[in-house]
Amino acid sequence: MPEEILKNLYRLPIPLVGNPLKELNAYLIKGKDRNLLIDTGFRQPACRQALFEEMAQLGLRPGDVDVLATHLHSDHTGLAPDAAGEKGTIYISRLDERIFDPEEQADEYWSGVEKSFMVEGFPNELLAHIWDSNPAHSMAPPRGVPHACLEDGDVLEAGGYKLRCLLMPGHTPGQMCFWMEEQGAMFLGDHVLFDITPNITAWNDLPDALGAYLESLKRIREYDVRLSLPGHRGRGDLKARVDQLLLHHRLRLDEALAAVKHHPGESAYQLAGYMTWKIHSKSNTWEDFPLTQKWFAVGEAVSHLERLQAEGSVKRVLEDGVAAYYPA
Ligand SMILES: [Zn+2]
Repeated sequence: MPEEILKNLYRLPIPLVGNPLKELNAYLIKGKDRNLLIDTGFRQPACRQALFEEMAQLGLRPGDVDVLATHLHSDHTGLAPDAAGEKGTIYISRLDERIFDPEEQADEYWSGVEKSFMVEGFPNELLAHIWDSNPAHSMAPPRGVPHACLEDGDVLEAGGYKLRCLLMPGHTPGQMCFWMEEQGAMFLGDHVLFDITPNITAWNDLPDALGAYLESLKRIREYDVRLSLPGHRGRGDLKARVDQLLLHHRLRLDEALAAVKHHPGESAYQLAGYMTWKIHSKSNTWEDFPLTQKWFAVGEAVSHLERLQAEGSVKRVLEDGVAAYYPA
């Protein structure tokens, strides 16, 4: 059932079956001239059915909405073309538009990502299977979809509301939040979540992603947000949550630095194995981690190691094509 949050603004819960995130919050603004759907769910039957049922309860069919994506991840963009149909426009940050890249460009990008993971010590034989179970590929929108790009500061209007686009890089290079100043309401995407810690990984096109993320956290803290609208699960107090997330990453940085000090000269893949992870699995040892979890863990470890380099406490040395980390 759509949950009416403000007049003409609804939250549509979209189940993410089998995914630890559990549910995506899509939001829909109903207007006279246009309807705006913010985020969509995976391109997968259960999400599609849920989204279209929720929309139908508001009297809307596929093609009756424009789609506004908070960021490129496929749980937020997967159904954008289905929902927008032929008439609707899909909006996304220019820095995240690559999710709609044509095939060749997308293949080139992903082989670059795999190469980076190899340099960080991720075993070749595991990389060969990484896309078997990773939702990034299989549930993403089809490639080469037409869309419109957003820049920091752009304003969209729908249902009598004004949404200002705020670029908040970190979770993805082009993560955007949408600010409705008059109402004190902020669409957060995955920049700040209340029940989950947003994943911060390494990006080939966003050096020191964690540094960028921490800056974005401090920036969003300056807004007088009275209604937080996160991309997943429950709402909460934004400033208090930002403070928790800042502290969380400080502690994670300390943990990563301790791992480097105890195991100098090892790769990010090995160092990730010395850090603590909350995962939904019976496996206890790093070697037994499910492959997708390993991928996320190594990405997160690299983003913390990049930050430690920027802070001057760690140095990275290429040894036979693999990056080794040492205390600086
Ligand atoms: Zn995300």
